[in-house]
Amino acid sequence: MQLTAGLRKAASFRAEETALVTPERSFSHGDLLDRVARLAGVFRRFGVGAGEPVAILAANGREYIECYFAVLWAGGVVVPVNSRFSLPEMIEQVTDAEPSLLVCDHSFLNSAVQLAEACRCLTAVIAAAPNVAGLPKLHDYDAAVADERPCADAGRGGDDLACLFYTGGTTGRAKGVMLSHRNLWVNAVVTSLSFGFDETTVALHAGPLFHLGAGARVYTTSIMGGRHVVIPRFSPNDVLAAISRHKVTVATFVPTMLGMILQMPDLDSYDLSSLKLITYGASPMPEAVLQECLRRFPSIRFGQSYGMTELSPVATILSPADHLPTAPRHRLRSAGRPIVSAEVRIVDAQDRELKTGEVGEVVVRGPMVMMGYWKQPELTAQVLRGGWMHTGDSGRFDADGYLYISDRIKDMIITGGENVYSVEVENAIAAHPDVLQCAVIGIPHAKWGEAVHAVVVRRAGSSLTAEQLIAFCRSAIADYKSPRSIEFRDDPLPLSSVNKINKAALRAPYWTDKDRRVN
Ligand code: ATP
Ligand code: MG
Repeated sequence: MQLTAGLRKAASFRAEETALVTPERSFSHGDLLDRVARLAGVFRRFGVGAGEPVAILAANGREYIECYFAVLWAGGVVVPVNSRFSLPEMIEQVTDAEPSLLVCDHSFLNSAVQLAEACRCLTAVIAAAPNVAGLPKLHDYDAAVADERPCADAGRGGDDLACLFYTGGTTGRAKGVMLSHRNLWVNAVVTSLSFGFDETTVALHAGPLFHLGAGARVYTTSIMGGRHVVIPRFSPNDVLAAISRHKVTVATFVPTMLGMILQMPDLDSYDLSSLKLITYGASPMPEAVLQECLRRFPSIRFGQSYGMTELSPVATILSPADHLPTAPRHRLRSAGRPIVSAEVRIVDAQDRELKTGEVGEVVVRGPMVMMGYWKQPELTAQVLRGGWMHTGDSGRFDADGYLYISDRIKDMIITGGENVYSVEVENAIAAHPDVLQCAVIGIPHAKWGEAVHAVVVRRAGSSLTAEQLIAFCRSAIADYKSPRSIEFRDDPLPLSSVNKINKAALRAPYWTDKDRRVN
């Protein structure tokens, strides 16, 4: 079980076919393998030994894809650095990972130099960089690759550590998640089978490659011998243009991205006829957005995955068949059924298994569960207690085995002793045609402990009032779940570095240190 296996196979049987497409140029499977094997040689020359972390700080591009494989080929461990972080945040992440080498592309030259200084690691630059002479400790590896001879794969696989991915940082400081070749290989194979990936797959990597959501797609596509299409960063225009230009067959989005795509005024002018499948996940999908997607793209299949970095990342899938008009509509609110390699249960606070229909914490067992958190043995032991990964999400199963995620346990609002799941309230609000975006949080309340509060962005020109929107919610959900207060905003809601709504930022002004909830 090696994550480099697909690359080798594709290069030996279909060397001339296109493996990787970027806005500038494309590479065949043969070219990609040759480049990866040389790059690995350069990494070894830089002293990267077996099991040593190599940090990557780059925009989405061919360099990123090459590093995903070349680091493993050299025997190292892939550590993507969150490129949306500020320099101090990057320093924190890289200091934690302790890489022996930091690889950066041209766009992050300055940050990388400061980062390497602060973290005392060697820096390598991918793209030929002007002015590098003035900067210390830099090595232009593009030039070095040209002189390097392809080296042999280091032969790591199975339970060897392959990648250190940091979590989304939605609930606090991101944690380093150790994933083995086996973890990611199992995820790649099972996801491929569930969604029908094969060598004709042309996958668009629209999300940031430092996050496992996009990262796992790279290994999934490669293991089946498919083609990668990479654009530097997400924008609805660039995504739609790339799909039509490069005949993309599969694209993966977080719900906020799909929401932005749907708002494109010239959406219908793009030729999306090649697109067979859109997969989504990573945060709750607003029902209204999903319904609109199904209406606007009747000939595209949709699939949802639920999971987390700690699960490599997929645990359940709502299949394309479940999105068809003939399938029961209520299932669109679910996260689907456990993938074949995952056992999923619902447990109470004492880890006792709950019955069908009862809400509790979602726990997962199987070969995709992480090796542990990097340098955090206590936290690892706590979340993996009893051999099950405790997700921190609450949910329930229905009688047909479909999992419904209620909320993150940390986002659940407790008002007057009643549990309110923010996701349910958000769905009720988002069903209003004048609502563009919304997020529901708990704010301090003298009598009820917490009160349900909504932050809402209205469509341009709407005169919807808070009273009208609250009344609208009360017609759909119970009074105690409906927002007590609504705050309208003109600007889009704050997003995390992986485009999830940043509820911690929304909550911050309401909660002081002495209050119970900071996140
Ligand atoms: P951190 O753990 O650092 O706070 P994070 O949990 O956002 O950040 P990820 O591993 O990117 O980091 O995200 C996993 C979480 O995303 C899950 O625990 C769950 O709350 C949410 N999630 C993922 N997929 C779905 C989905 N299909 N529906 C609802 N929520 C989802
Ligand atoms: Mg998490």
